[in-house]
Amino acid sequence: MRGEAASAHVGVLVVGGGPAGLAPLLAASARGLLPELLSHGLVVVERSDRIGDGRLGGYVINSDSSAQTFLSCLSGQHDSRIADLASHPVALEIARFGGETVPLALVGTLLRLVGAALADIIAEAPAGRVMTGYEAVGTRERADGRWATRLRRLADGEITEIVSRTIVIATGGQQSDSWLVRTQIGGQPLLPAYGDRLLHSDHAMTEDGLADIARRLSAVPAPKVAVIGGASSAIACLRVLLEPDRLPPDAAITLMHRSRLTLFYPSAEAAMADGYTAFGLDDICPVSGFVFRFGGLRFDSRSLARQLLGLDADAADARLHLHPLQSADGVVTHEMAEAWGHDRRVLDQADLIVCCVGYRPRGLPIRDVDGSPLPLAMHRPGGVLAGPGCEVLDAADEPVDGLFAIGLAAGFRPGKAMGGEPSFRGQINGLWLWQNDTGLLLAERLLAILRLQPDLAMAIRPAADDGEQRGIAAA
Ligand SMILES: Cc1cc2nc3c(=O)[nH]c(=O)nc-3n(C[C@H](O)[C@H](O)[C@H](O)COP(=O)(O)OP(=O)(O)OC[C@H]3O[C@@H](n4cnc5c(N)ncnc54)[C@H](O)[C@@H]3O)c2cc1C
Repeated sequence: MRGEAASAHVGVLVVGGGPAGLAPLLAASARGLLPELLSHGLVVVERSDRIGDGRLGGYVINSDSSAQTFLSCLSGQHDSRIADLASHPVALEIARFGGETVPLALVGTLLRLVGAALADIIAEAPAGRVMTGYEAVGTRERADGRWATRLRRLADGEITEIVSRTIVIATGGQQSDSWLVRTQIGGQPLLPAYGDRLLHSDHAMTEDGLADIARRLSAVPAPKVAVIGGASSAIACLRVLLEPDRLPPDAAITLMHRSRLTLFYPSAEAAMADGYTAFGLDDICPVSGFVFRFGGLRFDSRSLARQLLGLDADAADARLHLHPLQSADGVVTHEMAEAWGHDRRVLDQADLIVCCVGYRPRGLPIRDVDGSPLPLAMHRPGGVLAGPGCEVLDAADEPVDGLFAIGLAAGFRPGKAMGGEPSFRGQINGLWLWQNDTGLLLAERLLAILRLQPDLAMAIRPAADDGEQRGIAAA
């Protein structure tokens, strides 16, 4: 069977069954739209052995959104299999954290339960199927405007082809080494100079990553760790490194940051009362009045940043040091060259360098009708995978018909109506938004396309007897 492609036709193929891939389905379910979406034929393909939590549950840190935001996806649900999860012990445990931060491992357990409930609902639909243990290797546009996506079963390499009118790419984000090659710190790129000492924060914040750190530093007396970055991942890494018994008392941890540490406050008055004055009018959301509404550190990270900035009566751990980085842009002055020398010394002396440098979309290889790779906006440095309506953008920033994307690093930027501080230049990667406004927008866009082509569901034969092929028959 290896190498042979069976194929099936559906309305929607969701590639990636993590939190973002399931978000439009949850949003649709809360509005009673999921049955209609499923009636057009829907397949979720997921590389791992389950849908629901993606990478989120594997991080050993606390959330940077409140516990209650993770529970909101259970309210207003039409299907009792999802709604009833609100009284599950895991949901009740999360509820106890209320408006506070919550361990992401616990959130992951909840998302796995939600994923299992959705998997049941999808599998029950005559033309629905969840394909775990498969990875999408690429998609190609067909002459009829549909997309032919090749899936590889990880267990044996068997190839299946899914033909769909639409695709939701929810493959998450990744921290790539190319950033380390491109970005200069101390006047030189991190790679290849510090190759064997570098670690991506995404790995550092997992159990495997912690074991890796312990292994690398176990035989090092008075270890020195440099953490590069100034946003929430960097501060979260500091917190992980400061946990009891992680590093010895004579260790040194240096935060090397280019951007200033920005803190969330509910109002400018609250910020001033706290002694925090490093903000201007552009940093205040005109809708809510919040300071650094989108770009500000929250919860645990905010507490540590307050200590680092001297705003807290309790001083930060004595092993922690701040090291502002010099910009690598512009004309190199004598002062800058000196500062770069200083930056390099910190890196040269570090036994471990944790890079918290943001994420790029993982995406999916896409070919046009002729079989040529389709150049996308995301292939440009800093380019996004998806536009504000979740549509995948080509190299000319035009939507690619039938292709959508959602999730970590996909590119969602807040519009004016949403507010937020005008100075914010980043993306919003919040589960709540995906499960509500963005997810609903995406579900409605899918339905708008599928309603014009009611023949799609006809292309799927009734469920086969064997559970494995449920809902999809090879065409
Ligand atoms: C450290 C960290 C902390 C965060 N904390 C919060 C928080 O507190 N609150 C919040 O709202 N958000 C948070 N986020 C943002 C966001 O909610 C998470 O990153 C979330 O895991 C993103 O979900 P995702 O589905 O986009 O990606 P992922 O979680 O990476 O899921 C992608 C899924 O797609 C699958 N996949 C990938 N490629 C393929 C393929 N080719 N074929 C088949 N399957 C594929 C993967 O196996 C995976 O299951 C955090 C992000 C990070 C990095």
